[in-house]
Amino acid sequence: MSIVSALAAAARKGVLIKGGARLEQLATVRCVAFDKTGTLTKGRLHVADLVTFAGHNRDEVLRAAAALESRSEHPIGQAIIRKAALENIAVPAAVGFQAIPGRGGEAIVDGSPVLVGNGRLFQERGLGSEELTAVENEFSNRGWTPVFVAVAGVPVGALAVVDEPREAAAESLQMLRALGIEKIAMLTGDHAVAARAVAASLGIDDVRADLLPADKADAVAQLRAKYGTLAMVGDGVNDAPALATADIGIAMGVAGSAAALETADVALMADELPKVTYAIRLSRATVRNIRANIAFSLALKGAFLVMAILGVATLWMAVAADMGASLIVIANALRLLRE
Ligand code: ADP
Ligand code: MG
Repeated sequence: MSIVSALAAAARKGVLIKGGARLEQLATVRCVAFDKTGTLTKGRLHVADLVTFAGHNRDEVLRAAAALESRSEHPIGQAIIRKAALENIAVPAAVGFQAIPGRGGEAIVDGSPVLVGNGRLFQERGLGSEELTAVENEFSNRGWTPVFVAVAGVPVGALAVVDEPREAAAESLQMLRALGIEKIAMLTGDHAVAARAVAASLGIDDVRADLLPADKADAVAQLRAKYGTLAMVGDGVNDAPALATADIGIAMGVAGSAAALETADVALMADELPKVTYAIRLSRATVRNIRANIAFSLALKGAFLVMAILGVATLWMAVAADMGASLIVIANALRLLRE
């Protein structure tokens, strides 16, 4: 009864909790790990700067990058597409797009292979250079995420993408700490320097950066071993394995991938971080409610047993008390509907 009330109250607030077992486990969470891009941050990024490498121009960089990103689902892609639109660039179609999880993507644009992604991807493809590393350091130090663009195997330029923390992020983390959550960590595929800039502004000291989707799952396993029951909050982009590894996977926003919403234990219909705190508070209230109801029922039965032994209990009293007790237990459980 308590669980049904709580699940209904949560659903009304756009928090879908997959069953009573999950709800009760949520009450025991000790550690919460957050994905960065699209979760702690708005994920509505914008392009703050664009540099070109010798012999190449802005249009070329934007054309190739925007064409490729029009096939990707990553928030970085949206920023680049908006930038191209702002500069009235005619974006050609891209074919054969392939996402490279935690790194970037590749596609064919105007018959040439285009590669877009982070410095690590470019190093791995043998496209690293002093110039590239210098740009990477400069952007990262400003808290910008560098996105490199190569056309036909030649780096043509780089875009600096900036993401802002959600307005509710700092406050939500504070509320989580107030609930006694021992450990709050940030997991990200982003560059360590850029990631630390965001983490510092939110007061998160445990930052794990440069993680591929599988590394995020490993980080979750490590934190879980150290701190106990762990909830992972993510948007489903590159963090589905981590959501699945956590005791409780909390997927934010239906905009996240359908697969992530399916594997999640808790799905937040909107991109609202305060709902994470709400879910934990509700689960604890539910557990307290269940305990109170059990204690009340046992106390009443105990009292009756004593009266029966003393010979003062009648059958009608027993019936009335039992009915009354059920009603009180139900009424108490229904209070959760207002949580
Ligand atoms: P986060 O953990 O912050 O959500 P992701 O794991 O989604 O980040 O991505 C990690 C990094 O890979 C990004 O910071 C970016 O540098 C690069 N990346 C991933 N997808 C793309 C893309 N479509 N375009 C450009 N860069 C990308
Ligand atoms: Mg993400």
